[in-house]
Amino acid sequence: MALSKEKRIKKDAKILRKFVYVYCKKNHPDREKNSDGYCGECFEVLNYALKRDEKCPLDPKPKCKDCKIHCYKPEMRQKIKEIMKFSGIYFIKRGRLDWVFHYFF
Ligand code: SF4
Ligand SMILES: [Zn+2]
Repeated sequence: MALSKEKRIKKDAKILRKFVYVYCKKNHPDREKNSDGYCGECFEVLNYALKRDEKCPLDPKPKCKDCKIHCYKPEMRQKIKEIMKFSGIYFIKRGRLDWVFHYFF
Protein backbone atom coordinates (compact mmCIF):
# COMPACT_ATOMS: atom_id res chain seq x y z
CA MET A 1 0.00 0.00 0.00
CA ALA A 2 1.27 3.47 -0.85
CA LEU A 3 2.33 5.64 2.05
CA SER A 4 0.37 8.78 2.75
CA LYS A 5 2.06 11.84 1.30
CA GLU A 6 3.03 13.05 4.74
CA LYS A 7 4.62 9.74 5.69
CA ARG A 8 6.40 9.52 2.37
CA ILE A 9 7.95 12.96 2.86
CA LYS A 10 9.09 12.03 6.38
CA LYS A 11 10.64 8.79 5.21
CA ASP A 12 12.34 10.42 2.24
CA ALA A 13 13.74 13.15 4.47
CA LYS A 14 15.20 10.60 6.86
CA ILE A 15 16.91 8.77 4.02
CA LEU A 16 18.12 11.90 2.26
CA ARG A 17 19.72 13.14 5.48
CA LYS A 18 21.57 9.83 5.94
CA PHE A 19 22.77 9.70 2.34
CA VAL A 20 24.06 13.26 2.30
CA TYR A 21 25.61 12.85 5.75
CA VAL A 22 27.64 9.80 4.74
CA TYR A 23 28.69 11.39 1.48
CA CYS A 24 29.91 14.53 3.24
CA LYS A 25 31.65 12.62 5.98
CA LYS A 26 33.60 10.49 3.51
CA ASN A 27 34.23 13.03 0.77
CA HIS A 28 34.65 16.29 2.64
CA PRO A 29 36.55 15.32 5.79
CA ASP A 30 38.50 18.58 5.87
CA ARG A 31 35.62 20.96 5.43
CA GLU A 32 34.08 22.88 8.27
CA LYS A 33 30.77 21.26 9.33
CA ASN A 34 27.61 22.56 10.93
CA SER A 35 26.26 21.01 14.14
CA ASP A 36 24.48 18.28 12.14
CA GLY A 37 27.70 17.29 10.39
CA TYR A 38 27.20 18.81 6.92
CA CYS A 39 29.53 21.15 5.05
CA GLY A 40 27.97 24.23 3.48
CA GLU A 41 27.74 22.74 0.01
CA CYS A 42 26.19 19.44 1.13
CA PHE A 43 23.77 21.25 3.41
CA GLU A 44 22.61 23.32 0.47
CA VAL A 45 22.09 20.21 -1.68
CA LEU A 46 20.26 18.48 1.17
CA ASN A 47 17.90 21.38 1.72
CA TYR A 48 17.27 21.71 -1.98
CA ALA A 49 16.44 18.00 -2.28
CA LEU A 50 14.19 18.12 0.80
CA LYS A 51 12.28 21.01 -0.68
CA ARG A 52 11.90 19.34 -4.08
CA ASP A 53 10.68 16.18 -2.41
CA GLU A 54 8.18 18.08 -0.31
CA LYS A 55 6.88 20.01 -3.30
CA CYS A 56 6.82 17.08 -5.70
CA PRO A 57 3.65 17.50 -7.78
CA LEU A 58 3.29 13.77 -8.42
CA ASP A 59 1.21 11.61 -6.14
CA PRO A 60 2.15 8.84 -5.88
CA LYS A 61 5.67 10.11 -6.38
CA PRO A 62 7.85 7.93 -8.62
CA LYS A 63 11.56 7.52 -7.98
CA CYS A 64 13.18 10.71 -9.23
CA LYS A 65 15.27 8.71 -11.66
CA ASP A 66 12.06 7.48 -13.34
CA CYS A 67 10.42 10.89 -13.37
CA LYS A 68 9.58 12.65 -16.63
CA ILE A 69 9.42 16.12 -15.10
CA HIS A 70 12.86 16.30 -13.48
CA CYS A 71 12.19 19.30 -11.34
CA TYR A 72 15.81 19.65 -10.16
CA LYS A 73 18.00 22.28 -11.72
CA PRO A 74 20.84 20.57 -13.63
CA GLU A 75 23.61 21.47 -11.19
CA MET A 76 21.66 20.12 -8.22
CA ARG A 77 20.59 17.05 -10.12
CA GLN A 78 24.22 16.27 -10.87
CA LYS A 79 25.20 16.70 -7.23
CA ILE A 80 22.39 14.62 -5.80
CA LYS A 81 23.04 11.88 -8.33
CA GLU A 82 26.66 11.71 -7.25
CA ILE A 83 25.65 11.63 -3.58
CA MET A 84 23.05 8.89 -4.15
CA LYS A 85 25.51 6.80 -6.11
CA PHE A 86 28.28 7.06 -3.54
CA SER A 87 26.09 6.55 -0.49
CA GLY A 88 24.00 3.91 -2.27
CA ILE A 89 27.12 1.75 -2.61
CA TYR A 90 28.06 2.51 0.99
CA PHE A 91 24.67 1.38 2.28
CA ILE A 92 24.46 -1.65 -0.01
CA LYS A 93 27.69 -2.86 1.58
CA ARG A 94 26.07 -2.42 4.97
CA GLY A 95 22.93 -4.30 4.05
CA ARG A 96 20.53 -1.35 3.90
CA LEU A 97 18.98 -2.30 0.60
CA ASP A 98 15.64 -0.99 1.78
CA TRP A 99 17.01 2.56 1.90
CA VAL A 100 18.88 2.22 -1.35
CA PHE A 101 15.98 0.95 -3.39
CA HIS A 102 13.68 3.43 -1.87
CA TYR A 103 15.75 6.35 -3.04
CA PHE A 104 17.80 5.44 -6.03
CA PHE A 105 18.26 8.63 -7.98
S1 SF4 B 1 12.26 14.88 -10.02
FE1 SF4 B 1 10.13 14.27 -10.39
S2 SF4 B 1 9.68 12.73 -8.80
FE2 SF4 B 1 11.54 13.83 -8.18
S3 SF4 B 1 10.77 15.47 -6.83
FE3 SF4 B 1 10.94 16.33 -8.91
S4 SF4 B 1 8.92 16.09 -9.83
FE4 SF4 B 1 9.01 14.74 -8.03
ZN1 LIG C 1 30.08 18.04 2.21
